[in-house]
Amino acid sequence: MDKGRDKEEDYGYSLFPEHKTGKPNRGLMAESILTFNHRCRVMLQVTLDTSPYAKLLVDAMKGSGCAVYKDRHFSCEDCDGTVSGGFDAEISQIVLCQNNIHQQQHMNRVVTHELIHTFDHCRAHVDWFRNIKHLACSEIRAANLSGECAFVNEVCRFNFGLKQHHQKCVRERALRSILAVRNVNKETAEKAVDAVFNTCFNDHEPFGRIPHNRKDAKYAYRDFQNRNRYYSNL
Ligand SMILES: [Zn+2]
Repeated sequence: MDKGRDKEEDYGYSLFPEHKTGKPNRGLMAESILTFNHRCRVMLQVTLDTSPYAKLLVDAMKGSGCAVYKDRHFSCEDCDGTVSGGFDAEISQIVLCQNNIHQQQHMNRVVTHELIHTFDHCRAHVDWFRNIKHLACSEIRAANLSGECAFVNEVCRFNFGLKQHHQKCVRERALRSILAVRNVNKETAEKAVDAVFNTCFNDHEPFGRIPHNRKDAKYAYRDFQNRNRYYSNL
């Protein structure tokens, strides 16, 4: 926690360049930087500015008439348990759990995961509440494309073949997500995930590939920008 706190403060200070060069106003810093809510919003801004995953998703939605605004579509809140984030489909808003997200990398993954749900919500008429297969599909895509399973790969790659492990990880994370937000038993959730797995696992929009790491995501972002440029020239 202490180790993390040093890092977090750096993110905050780097966004206030005049405080760096001028005399630091300790009172102001203590009030604003050190609250969970402020720290959460600063980390969100860093994600939106620097993560190729998030930038691609935000751009793709802008192109589909679903522009994403930081203040309108994100809310930093305290959450129960170990939940990191969620997507409120009713008001189209992403909840970020400010008491459970302590590192920038974690924030990047949560924002990306939830933006994939937002993307699905934007492009398709998703029946989140009555059709569990719709929810399963979006959870499969979020686990597959957000890089969260690539992260686990780093730890577990000696246990499984890489490709096989990735699929297994996606399936398990999708199951876990469904069980966390819906009052259904494991069999029902498994049935829904298995029924749509192949289709949704192979749907890589808007990335055009599975971005296994930041480098992949950067290439995907570059290709996405070129793709759009190409279309606009037609
Ligand atoms: Zn999810």
